[in-house]
Amino acid sequence: MNLPKDYISYNQIRLYRNCPLKYYFTYIEKIKTPINDKILLGTVFHYVIGYYLKKKIETKEPDNGKIKGVFLEEFELEKGENEIVWTSSCDEVKKRGIAFVEYFFKEMASFIDPLMVETELEVKLPNRGVNLRGIIDLVEKDFSITDFKTTTSKWSKSRVDSSYLQIIIYKYLFEKSFCNTSPEVKFKIIYSKNHKKINHQEINIKPKKDDIEKMLEIIDHVIENIDNALFYKNETYMCNFCEFKYICKDFKLVKRDEKVI
Ligand code: SF4
Repeated sequence: MNLPKDYISYNQIRLYRNCPLKYYFTYIEKIKTPINDKILLGTVFHYVIGYYLKKKIETKEPDNGKIKGVFLEEFELEKGENEIVWTSSCDEVKKRGIAFVEYFFKEMASFIDPLMVETELEVKLPNRGVNLRGIIDLVEKDFSITDFKTTTSKWSKSRVDSSYLQIIIYKYLFEKSFCNTSPEVKFKIIYSKNHKKINHQEINIKPKKDDIEKMLEIIDHVIENIDNALFYKNETYMCNFCEFKYICKDFKLVKRDEKVI
């Protein structure tokens, strides 16, 4: 079996490592599921800051006054195109999103010197001839790479660790695409439980010597398992939140029992 897409991405790798059967439902069966309001907010926020930063590259002086309108328009568009599971009211999610955008302009935007925004990079992996693809939120003029996140609370060390592979993949893609230029990598996390008290943290990642070797090993293993159609259940407490939990119950597809590394 070949990969369902002609490339592998961090999202695919993360999903497969969380639960191979969930990967199967999503990428092989292509079962469309609702998204929750946190994903909606994150998607719209990324769109708005991407819009702003691209304008900043083009014109140097983007019109900040229009940004709330851009947010509201994109919010309605995404809401109309997706089935949403609301964990807070639509009005509260919208207010929280606007507060995030306002906070971004007040506290963060003027410190950002964008060179490239939402840059899609693709590199052929050494072992299997499969392309690795990623979209980098922001590259600044000092070649540092930033991935933005929106969430409800400050990231803990374990939360950073769980996204470490993502930023290493972006670093690798950048290095391979731009003559081994070694970029700084960081997460910028904007967080709040409601629209009243927004905060953010910047986490600079200090890469380790064997990061790339380990990353390639993990990706290779995931590709091999997908290629061998290994889609077993990984039953954890996360099943309670899984959108496939009802169809998963009686589902049997496993070829053989193997754990992903
Ligand atoms: S319910 Fe659990 S085992 Fe089933 S697909 Fe979802 S995460 Fe995997």
